[in-house]
Amino acid sequence: MSNIKVLDEKTINKIAAGEVVERPASIIKELVENSIDSGADEIIVEVNNGGITYIKVCDNGCGIEYDDLDKAFLRHATSKIRTEDDLNTIATLGFRGEALASIAAVSKVEMISKTKENDIGAKIIIEGGKILSKEYCGSPTGTIITVQDVFFNTPARLKFLKSQRSEGMYITETMQNLAMSHTDVSFKYRLNDKLIFATRGDGDLKSVLLSIYGKEIVNNVIRLDYSGSIAAIKGYIGSSSIAKGSRSGQSVFVNRRYVKNKVVAAAAEAAYKSMLTINKYPFFVIEMFLNPELVDVNVHPSKSEVKFQDDNAVFKDVFNGVKNALLSEKVIPDIKESK
Ligand code: ADP
Ligand code: MG
Repeated sequence: MSNIKVLDEKTINKIAAGEVVERPASIIKELVENSIDSGADEIIVEVNNGGITYIKVCDNGCGIEYDDLDKAFLRHATSKIRTEDDLNTIATLGFRGEALASIAAVSKVEMISKTKENDIGAKIIIEGGKILSKEYCGSPTGTIITVQDVFFNTPARLKFLKSQRSEGMYITETMQNLAMSHTDVSFKYRLNDKLIFATRGDGDLKSVLLSIYGKEIVNNVIRLDYSGSIAAIKGYIGSSSIAKGSRSGQSVFVNRRYVKNKVVAAAAEAAYKSMLTINKYPFFVIEMFLNPELVDVNVHPSKSEVKFQDDNAVFKDVFNGVKNALLSEKVIPDIKESK
Protein backbone atom coordinates (compact mmCIF):
# COMPACT_ATOMS: atom_id res chain seq x y z
CA MET A 1 0.00 0.00 0.00
CA SER A 2 1.30 3.45 -0.83
CA ASN A 3 1.67 5.94 2.03
CA ILE A 4 2.87 8.99 0.16
CA LYS A 5 0.34 11.56 -1.00
CA VAL A 6 0.75 14.82 -2.88
CA LEU A 7 -0.71 17.54 -0.66
CA ASP A 8 -3.69 19.59 -1.77
CA GLU A 9 -3.19 23.16 -2.99
CA LYS A 10 -4.58 24.74 0.22
CA THR A 11 -2.15 22.86 2.45
CA ILE A 12 0.77 23.58 0.09
CA ASN A 13 -0.03 27.31 0.23
CA LYS A 14 -0.20 27.27 4.01
CA ILE A 15 3.22 25.61 4.22
CA ALA A 16 4.72 28.02 1.68
CA ALA A 17 3.21 30.98 3.54
CA GLY A 18 5.52 30.10 6.42
CA GLU A 19 8.49 31.09 4.26
CA VAL A 20 7.10 34.16 2.53
CA VAL A 21 5.01 35.62 5.35
CA GLU A 22 7.10 35.61 8.46
CA ARG A 23 5.33 38.59 10.00
CA PRO A 24 3.02 41.49 8.95
CA ALA A 25 6.05 43.46 7.72
CA SER A 26 6.67 40.70 5.12
CA ILE A 27 3.13 41.25 3.82
CA ILE A 28 3.76 44.99 3.50
CA LYS A 29 6.97 44.30 1.62
CA GLU A 30 5.30 41.96 -0.86
CA LEU A 31 2.26 44.18 -1.44
CA VAL A 32 4.26 47.37 -1.91
CA GLU A 33 6.70 45.57 -4.20
CA ASN A 34 3.72 44.50 -6.29
CA SER A 35 2.56 48.13 -6.40
CA ILE A 36 6.01 49.27 -7.49
CA ASP A 37 6.16 46.55 -10.17
CA SER A 38 2.75 47.73 -11.42
CA GLY A 39 4.31 51.04 -12.44
CA ALA A 40 2.55 53.08 -9.74
CA ASP A 41 3.99 56.46 -8.81
CA GLU A 42 1.69 56.92 -5.82
CA ILE A 43 1.42 54.32 -3.09
CA ILE A 44 -0.56 54.75 0.13
CA VAL A 45 -0.07 52.33 3.00
CA GLU A 46 -2.28 52.22 6.09
CA VAL A 47 -1.60 49.86 8.97
CA ASN A 48 -3.33 49.29 12.30
CA ASN A 49 -2.22 47.32 15.34
CA GLY A 50 1.18 46.29 14.04
CA GLY A 51 -0.40 45.09 10.81
CA ILE A 52 -1.94 42.14 12.62
CA THR A 53 -5.56 43.29 12.26
CA TYR A 54 -5.41 45.65 9.28
CA ILE A 55 -3.19 46.46 6.28
CA LYS A 56 -4.27 48.48 3.27
CA VAL A 57 -2.14 49.26 0.21
CA CYS A 58 -3.47 51.51 -2.56
CA ASP A 59 -1.67 52.19 -5.81
CA ASN A 60 -2.28 53.94 -9.10
CA GLY A 61 -0.50 51.29 -11.16
CA CYS A 62 -1.57 49.19 -14.15
CA GLY A 63 -4.29 47.25 -12.29
CA ILE A 64 -5.49 43.70 -12.94
CA GLU A 65 -8.10 42.47 -15.44
CA TYR A 66 -11.29 40.80 -14.15
CA ASP A 67 -10.21 37.44 -15.62
CA ASP A 68 -6.79 37.63 -13.97
CA LEU A 69 -7.98 38.63 -10.51
CA ASP A 70 -8.35 35.10 -9.15
CA LYS A 71 -5.33 33.84 -11.11
CA ALA A 72 -3.16 36.39 -9.30
CA PHE A 73 -3.81 34.41 -6.09
CA LEU A 74 -2.71 31.07 -7.56
CA ARG A 75 0.68 29.78 -6.55
CA HIS A 76 3.44 30.30 -9.12
CA ALA A 77 1.17 32.53 -11.19
CA THR A 78 2.97 35.66 -12.36
CA SER A 79 2.88 38.19 -15.17
CA LYS A 80 6.56 39.07 -14.62
CA ILE A 81 8.51 36.17 -16.06
CA ARG A 82 7.63 33.66 -18.75
CA THR A 83 10.51 31.23 -19.06
CA GLU A 84 13.38 29.78 -17.07
CA ASP A 85 15.81 32.03 -18.97
CA ASP A 86 14.05 35.11 -17.61
CA LEU A 87 15.37 34.18 -14.15
CA ASN A 88 18.82 35.37 -15.24
CA THR A 89 17.75 38.91 -15.97
CA ILE A 90 15.02 39.78 -13.50
CA ALA A 91 14.05 43.44 -13.74
CA THR A 92 11.04 43.37 -11.38
CA LEU A 93 10.94 42.98 -7.61
CA GLY A 94 8.56 40.02 -7.80
CA PHE A 95 8.89 36.98 -10.07
CA ARG A 96 8.06 33.90 -7.96
CA GLY A 97 4.30 34.32 -8.16
CA GLU A 98 3.74 33.15 -4.63
CA ALA A 99 3.22 36.22 -2.46
CA LEU A 100 -0.51 36.74 -2.99
CA ALA A 101 -1.20 32.99 -2.68
CA SER A 102 0.78 32.85 0.56
CA ILE A 103 -0.77 36.00 2.04
CA ALA A 104 -4.31 34.90 1.18
CA ALA A 105 -3.64 31.47 2.73
CA VAL A 106 -3.14 32.97 6.19
CA SER A 107 -5.42 36.02 6.28
CA LYS A 108 -8.62 37.65 5.00
CA VAL A 109 -7.99 39.54 1.78
CA GLU A 110 -10.06 41.89 -0.35
CA MET A 111 -8.63 43.17 -3.61
CA ILE A 112 -10.21 45.77 -5.87
CA SER A 113 -8.50 46.55 -9.14
CA LYS A 114 -9.08 48.28 -12.47
CA THR A 115 -6.91 48.65 -15.55
CA LYS A 116 -6.87 51.89 -17.49
CA GLU A 117 -8.41 50.15 -20.53
CA ASN A 118 -11.53 49.17 -18.57
CA ASP A 119 -14.32 51.41 -17.28
CA ILE A 120 -15.26 49.08 -14.50
CA GLY A 121 -13.06 47.26 -12.02
CA ALA A 122 -13.39 44.01 -10.12
CA LYS A 123 -13.37 42.91 -6.51
CA ILE A 124 -12.35 39.57 -5.04
CA ILE A 125 -12.68 38.38 -1.45
CA ILE A 126 -10.55 35.48 -0.19
CA GLU A 127 -10.33 34.04 3.32
CA GLY A 128 -7.78 31.44 4.33
CA GLY A 129 -7.11 30.70 0.66
CA LYS A 130 -10.79 30.20 -0.22
CA ILE A 131 -12.40 32.53 -2.76
CA LEU A 132 -15.67 33.80 -1.25
CA SER A 133 -16.71 36.12 -4.06
CA LYS A 134 -15.60 37.83 -7.25
CA GLU A 135 -17.66 40.54 -8.90
CA TYR A 136 -17.49 43.67 -11.03
CA CYS A 137 -17.09 46.81 -8.98
CA GLY A 138 -16.47 50.53 -9.48
CA SER A 139 -12.84 51.51 -8.87
CA PRO A 140 -10.21 54.06 -9.85
CA THR A 141 -7.39 52.76 -12.09
CA GLY A 142 -4.95 50.83 -9.93
CA THR A 143 -5.22 48.38 -7.10
CA ILE A 144 -6.49 48.53 -3.52
CA ILE A 145 -5.72 45.52 -1.37
CA THR A 146 -6.84 45.06 2.22
CA VAL A 147 -5.45 42.31 4.42
CA GLN A 148 -7.09 41.62 7.79
CA ASP A 149 -6.56 39.23 10.69
CA VAL A 150 -3.14 37.93 9.71
CA PHE A 151 -2.53 34.33 10.89
CA PHE A 152 -6.18 33.97 12.01
CA ASN A 153 -6.06 30.32 10.89
CA THR A 154 -2.51 29.55 12.04
CA PRO A 155 -2.60 30.20 15.81
CA ALA A 156 0.97 28.97 16.29
CA ARG A 157 2.26 31.73 13.97
CA LEU A 158 0.08 34.34 15.62
CA LYS A 159 1.52 33.45 19.00
CA PHE A 160 5.07 33.82 17.72
CA LEU A 161 4.52 37.48 16.74
CA LYS A 162 5.92 40.20 18.97
CA SER A 163 3.92 43.06 20.48
CA GLN A 164 1.91 45.26 18.11
CA ARG A 165 4.41 48.02 18.80
CA SER A 166 7.38 45.87 17.74
CA GLU A 167 5.58 44.59 14.66
CA GLY A 168 4.78 48.22 13.80
CA MET A 169 8.47 49.05 14.05
CA TYR A 170 9.37 46.27 11.62
CA ILE A 171 6.77 47.67 9.23
CA THR A 172 8.13 51.21 9.54
CA GLU A 173 11.64 49.94 8.78
CA THR A 174 10.30 48.06 5.76
CA MET A 175 8.48 51.18 4.53
CA GLN A 176 11.61 53.30 4.95
CA ASN A 177 13.62 50.86 2.85
CA LEU A 178 10.96 50.72 0.15
CA ALA A 179 10.80 54.53 0.02
CA MET A 180 14.60 54.90 -0.12
CA SER A 181 14.96 52.35 -2.91
CA HIS A 182 12.17 53.97 -4.97
CA THR A 183 12.64 57.69 -4.79
CA ASP A 184 10.52 58.27 -7.89
CA VAL A 185 7.41 56.94 -6.14
CA SER A 186 5.50 59.11 -3.72
CA PHE A 187 4.68 57.16 -0.57
CA LYS A 188 2.27 57.97 2.23
CA TYR A 189 2.54 55.73 5.25
CA ARG A 190 0.13 55.80 8.18
CA LEU A 191 0.36 53.70 11.31
CA ASN A 192 -2.62 53.67 13.68
CA ASP A 193 -4.12 56.69 11.85
CA LYS A 194 -0.95 58.74 12.32
CA LEU A 195 1.04 59.89 9.29
CA ILE A 196 4.55 58.49 9.85
CA PHE A 197 6.05 59.84 6.63
CA ALA A 198 5.23 61.05 3.15
CA THR A 199 7.74 61.24 0.32
CA ARG A 200 7.50 63.42 -2.75
CA GLY A 201 8.46 61.00 -5.47
CA ASP A 202 10.83 63.56 -6.98
CA GLY A 203 13.64 61.06 -7.52
CA ASP A 204 15.91 62.65 -4.92
CA LEU A 205 17.22 60.27 -2.25
CA LYS A 206 18.18 63.15 0.03
CA SER A 207 14.61 64.41 0.07
CA VAL A 208 13.46 60.89 1.02
CA LEU A 209 16.05 60.79 3.82
CA LEU A 210 14.69 64.11 5.07
CA SER A 211 11.11 62.79 5.04
CA ILE A 212 11.90 59.58 6.85
CA TYR A 213 14.82 60.40 9.15
CA GLY A 214 14.70 64.18 9.55
CA LYS A 215 17.25 67.00 9.50
CA GLU A 216 19.79 65.61 11.92
CA ILE A 217 20.62 62.74 9.59
CA VAL A 218 20.45 64.77 6.36
CA ASN A 219 22.84 67.40 7.72
CA ASN A 220 25.40 64.75 8.51
CA VAL A 221 25.60 62.65 5.37
CA ILE A 222 27.81 62.80 2.31
CA ARG A 223 27.09 61.58 -1.14
CA LEU A 224 28.44 58.36 -2.49
CA ASP A 225 29.05 58.28 -6.21
CA TYR A 226 31.65 55.84 -7.36
CA SER A 227 32.19 53.74 -10.43
CA GLY A 228 33.75 50.45 -9.40
CA SER A 229 35.08 47.58 -11.46
CA ILE A 230 31.75 45.73 -11.53
CA ALA A 231 29.28 48.00 -9.74
CA ALA A 232 28.26 51.62 -9.49
CA ILE A 233 28.04 52.62 -5.83
CA LYS A 234 25.65 55.45 -4.99
CA GLY A 235 23.74 56.71 -1.98
CA TYR A 236 24.77 58.46 1.25
CA ILE A 237 27.03 57.66 4.15
CA GLY A 238 26.93 59.22 7.57
CA SER A 239 29.59 61.12 9.48
CA SER A 240 30.84 59.73 12.78
CA SER A 241 28.48 62.04 14.68
CA ILE A 242 25.46 59.98 13.60
CA ALA A 243 27.04 56.56 14.16
CA LYS A 244 24.92 54.42 16.45
CA GLY A 245 25.27 51.58 18.89
CA SER A 246 23.42 49.27 16.49
CA ARG A 247 23.30 48.60 12.77
CA SER A 248 19.76 49.95 12.44
CA GLY A 249 20.87 52.89 10.27
CA GLN A 250 22.31 50.67 7.54
CA SER A 251 20.50 49.95 4.29
CA VAL A 252 21.78 48.19 1.19
CA PHE A 253 19.98 48.14 -2.14
CA VAL A 254 21.08 46.03 -5.08
CA ASN A 255 19.51 47.09 -8.35
CA ARG A 256 16.77 48.84 -6.34
CA ARG A 257 16.04 45.79 -4.22
CA TYR A 258 16.45 46.08 -0.44
CA VAL A 259 18.69 43.24 0.66
CA LYS A 260 20.58 42.01 3.66
CA ASN A 261 24.13 41.35 2.59
CA LYS A 262 27.12 40.75 4.83
CA VAL A 263 29.73 41.45 2.14
CA VAL A 264 28.47 44.96 1.37
CA ALA A 265 27.94 45.85 5.04
CA ALA A 266 31.38 44.51 6.01
CA ALA A 267 33.07 46.44 3.18
CA ALA A 268 31.41 49.70 4.20
CA GLU A 269 32.28 49.22 7.86
CA ALA A 270 35.86 48.32 6.94
CA ALA A 271 36.21 51.63 5.11
CA TYR A 272 35.36 53.45 8.34
CA LYS A 273 37.96 51.47 10.26
CA SER A 274 39.64 53.52 13.02
CA MET A 275 37.30 56.44 12.31
CA LEU A 276 34.70 55.15 14.74
CA THR A 277 35.08 54.05 18.32
CA ILE A 278 34.46 50.45 19.18
CA ASN A 279 30.80 49.35 19.23
CA LYS A 280 29.73 52.25 17.00
CA TYR A 281 28.23 51.45 13.63
CA PRO A 282 28.13 53.87 10.70
CA PHE A 283 24.94 55.13 9.07
CA PHE A 284 24.77 54.33 5.39
CA VAL A 285 22.36 53.98 2.52
CA ILE A 286 24.21 52.18 -0.24
CA GLU A 287 22.65 51.79 -3.67
CA MET A 288 24.51 49.32 -5.87
CA PHE A 289 23.87 48.96 -9.54
CA LEU A 290 25.37 46.05 -11.42
CA ASN A 291 24.64 43.77 -14.32
CA PRO A 292 21.72 41.56 -13.14
CA GLU A 293 23.56 38.54 -14.52
CA LEU A 294 26.23 39.00 -11.84
CA VAL A 295 23.78 38.67 -8.97
CA ASP A 296 21.34 35.89 -8.10
CA VAL A 297 18.17 37.15 -6.41
CA ASN A 298 16.50 33.75 -6.39
CA VAL A 299 18.13 32.61 -3.16
CA HIS A 300 15.25 32.64 -0.69
CA PRO A 301 11.43 32.92 -0.94
CA SER A 302 11.50 36.28 0.85
CA LYS A 303 13.95 37.60 -1.80
CA SER A 304 15.80 39.57 0.88
CA GLU A 305 19.10 37.87 0.26
CA VAL A 306 21.21 37.93 -2.88
CA LYS A 307 24.26 36.01 -3.99
CA PHE A 308 26.97 37.83 -5.91
CA GLN A 309 28.98 35.95 -8.48
CA ASP A 310 32.14 37.65 -7.22
CA ASP A 311 32.06 38.68 -3.55
CA ASN A 312 35.64 39.97 -3.64
CA ALA A 313 34.96 42.40 -6.47
CA VAL A 314 31.84 43.66 -4.68
CA PHE A 315 33.77 44.10 -1.43
CA LYS A 316 36.47 46.12 -3.22
CA ASP A 317 34.02 48.36 -5.06
CA VAL A 318 32.02 49.17 -1.93
CA PHE A 319 35.12 49.64 0.19
CA ASN A 320 36.72 52.00 -2.34
CA GLY A 321 33.50 53.91 -2.89
CA VAL A 322 32.95 54.55 0.81
CA LYS A 323 36.63 55.26 1.48
CA ASN A 324 36.82 57.81 -1.36
CA ALA A 325 33.73 59.61 -0.12
CA LEU A 326 35.05 59.74 3.45
CA LEU A 327 38.44 61.07 2.39
CA SER A 328 37.20 63.61 -0.12
CA GLU A 329 34.68 65.18 2.21
CA LYS A 330 36.75 64.96 5.37
CA VAL A 331 33.55 64.71 7.36
CA ILE A 332 35.14 62.67 10.06
CA PRO A 333 36.41 65.06 12.76
CA ASP A 334 39.20 62.61 13.69
CA ILE A 335 40.76 62.98 10.24
CA LYS A 336 40.60 66.76 10.28
CA GLU A 337 42.23 66.89 13.68
CA SER A 338 45.00 64.52 12.77
CA LYS A 339 46.16 66.74 9.91
P1 ADP B 1 4.81 38.09 -8.33
O1 ADP B 1 4.90 39.48 -7.82
O2 ADP B 1 6.01 37.27 -7.99
O3 ADP B 1 4.45 38.01 -9.79
P2 ADP B 1 2.46 37.90 -6.62
O4 ADP B 1 1.78 36.71 -6.00
O5 ADP B 1 3.00 38.93 -5.71
O6 ADP B 1 3.61 37.32 -7.55
O7 ADP B 1 1.44 38.59 -7.64
C1 ADP B 1 0.86 37.80 -8.69
C2 ADP B 1 0.50 38.66 -9.88
O8 ADP B 1 -0.60 39.52 -9.54
C3 ADP B 1 1.61 39.59 -10.36
O9 ADP B 1 2.50 38.94 -11.25
C4 ADP B 1 0.79 40.71 -11.04
O10 ADP B 1 0.47 40.36 -12.35
C5 ADP B 1 -0.49 40.75 -10.23
N1 ADP B 1 -0.48 41.84 -9.21
C6 ADP B 1 -0.32 41.72 -7.88
N2 ADP B 1 -0.41 42.91 -7.26
C7 ADP B 1 -0.61 43.84 -8.22
C8 ADP B 1 -0.78 45.27 -8.22
N3 ADP B 1 -0.73 45.98 -7.08
N4 ADP B 1 -0.99 45.88 -9.42
C9 ADP B 1 -1.04 45.16 -10.57
N5 ADP B 1 -0.89 43.82 -10.64
C10 ADP B 1 -0.68 43.16 -9.49
MG1 MG C 1 4.85 39.99 -5.83
